[in-house]
Amino acid sequence: MTDDADPIKAALAGIEDPLGQGDLVAAGRVTLARIKDGVATVVLDATGFSAEQRALAERRIRAATIAMPGVTETRVAMTADKPERAIVAVGSGKGGVGKSTVAANLAVALARMGKKVGLVDADIYGPSQPNIMGQHGKPELIDEKIVPTPAHGVRMLSMGQLIAPGTAVAWRGPMTASALTSLMEGDWGDCELLIVDLPPGTGDVQMTLIQKWKPAGAVIVSTPQDLSLIDATRAIDMFRKMGVEPIGLVENMAGYACPHCGENSDPFGSGGAEAAARTMGIPFLGRIPLRIAIREASDAGRPPAAGEGEEADIFRGLAVRLLEQLKEGAHAAHP
Ligand code: ADP
Repeated sequence: MTDDADPIKAALAGIEDPLGQGDLVAAGRVTLARIKDGVATVVLDATGFSAEQRALAERRIRAATIAMPGVTETRVAMTADKPERAIVAVGSGKGGVGKSTVAANLAVALARMGKKVGLVDADIYGPSQPNIMGQHGKPELIDEKIVPTPAHGVRMLSMGQLIAPGTAVAWRGPMTASALTSLMEGDWGDCELLIVDLPPGTGDVQMTLIQKWKPAGAVIVSTPQDLSLIDATRAIDMFRKMGVEPIGLVENMAGYACPHCGENSDPFGSGGAEAAARTMGIPFLGRIPLRIAIREASDAGRPPAAGEGEEADIFRGLAVRLLEQLKEGAHAAHP
């Protein structure tokens, strides 16, 4: 496929930057410009533009590109003034499938790849991130914002750090929403990615997160059994209905390698999630085996993704595929 980036840049270079710094291209505002199958896609950094300036820039980009030979349609996307922060929800149909383990290790793996990552433990009914990440410190409150605590290269906030250990949390909707708000509106600084560990199922926290913070996508964790997959399908349906793209299914606890004899067995079956992902038309991000080492590392507050070896590699693979899916979503600029 040929890359037609240059002619389109030349066309855009004819448009003045409304903030008086030469043209849009020279001002470094064009972050993506391409023509593919007759569709011109332009992503513009509109930092500092007023609403009128944005509208004017968009009109001019449309006029300049549609005048190009072969272009039948133009899509323009403007990035927000704030540093873009992608929110990735990690959910599951039911509890105990390893959703928190996957959320923590994905966060750590992404941080090791150089991303600035925040981890929000929104599983208010059973916050397990302080244990998994080995971070029980009480976060500080500065200017009415909670300051996330560092752990394994990730910044994290958990309900578990805010409430007394063992306190039964039986909140109603509004309290849940305000607790989630304190976490989401914490001082996340320059975090590019916020991984949100949701409670299992489809309740108040999910609804509030989707309505108020519009995640870029959702990762669903399931074990290979049919029953778990039926629940996962329900969670995927909910995200879809609420306009959040399921960016991938992860199969956890797939296949058990006996630490003594090395023999592989499949206590919960294997491959079910990959087949289910195909049926539902969502990407399959990967498979994590059932390993005692994974449970032990989690119990000890050392996520395997922070170490070396096969488990760390598995989580890095998931993180790479997650980033690929996020990138594809970002390129699907809306007209
Ligand atoms: P959830 O968030 O879905 O409730 P957790 O992440 O808390 O599930 O995992 C439940 C239990 O299973 C924890 O003790 C965790 O250490 C363990 N676990 C999760 N994934 C694996 C795995 N791949 N191998 C072994 N143990 C696992």
